[in-house]
Amino acid sequence: MTTLIQPAREIQRRIPLPREDRPPLKVNIFEKMQAGNCQLIPMFPYEDADSLVPAGAIFRGEPDAEFGQFFHFNTVDEVAQVFGASGALLQTGQIYATQPLHGVNSFLKDPRNPDNFLVIAVTQHQRAAGPQNEAVIFRCAKCHEVLERYEYDAQPAPRGMHPRNGVPLFTTLQGSVDAAETLNEHETNRHCANCGHDNPTFPLERWGWKQYVQQTRTVNDARHALDAAAAEVLGAAEAGGH
Ligand SMILES: [Zn+2]
Repeated sequence: MTTLIQPAREIQRRIPLPREDRPPLKVNIFEKMQAGNCQLIPMFPYEDADSLVPAGAIFRGEPDAEFGQFFHFNTVDEVAQVFGASGALLQTGQIYATQPLHGVNSFLKDPRNPDNFLVIAVTQHQRAAGPQNEAVIFRCAKCHEVLERYEYDAQPAPRGMHPRNGVPLFTTLQGSVDAAETLNEHETNRHCANCGHDNPTFPLERWGWKQYVQQTRTVNDARHALDAAAAEVLGAAEAGGH
């Protein structure tokens, strides 16, 4: 038995063509994460309003490794998809939606075992309009009292608004750097008012957030330098031609 579908309805259900400023791209997460780190690496350069933002992260156990623990709060849903894991708290092929407030660590059962690993994609999305609130929260390792709650608006500036944001910055990572640096800055920020425990600094270097933020600045500066050099040469050629 077949059911005829009304052509008009079929057209209504058609997925719209991609926006001109977001041409379709294809990325293999395993190839992409070869140069990644614990930080979420956006897989596509589309992070402005109304974008879906799939990002990858890669973890591997290491003797004496400290990954630390923090909590991430996001007003929009995130979907986590495990592309491969061993000795982790997540299963290969597992897919789930995160709670608005969720804990983040290495997700490895024993982060010091070099056999343990995890490759995961976390897809966030950017609201079509208005502010999007995210927060990074650090808690006391002993009694779980909140040591710091660092809130930020995760809605990035529209592309092209600033002369040097051709390669977009994933605002979640800038927020994470700022939160961790604030925690690490003074002992008093890590002293628990509830139980008196002096918490260790957060291992910021291991997560690669800062490197990502700095390299975003560097590639945009480099692009600007190339444009300036080209303008100079072309300008000189034009002047010489007359
Ligand atoms: Zn405490």
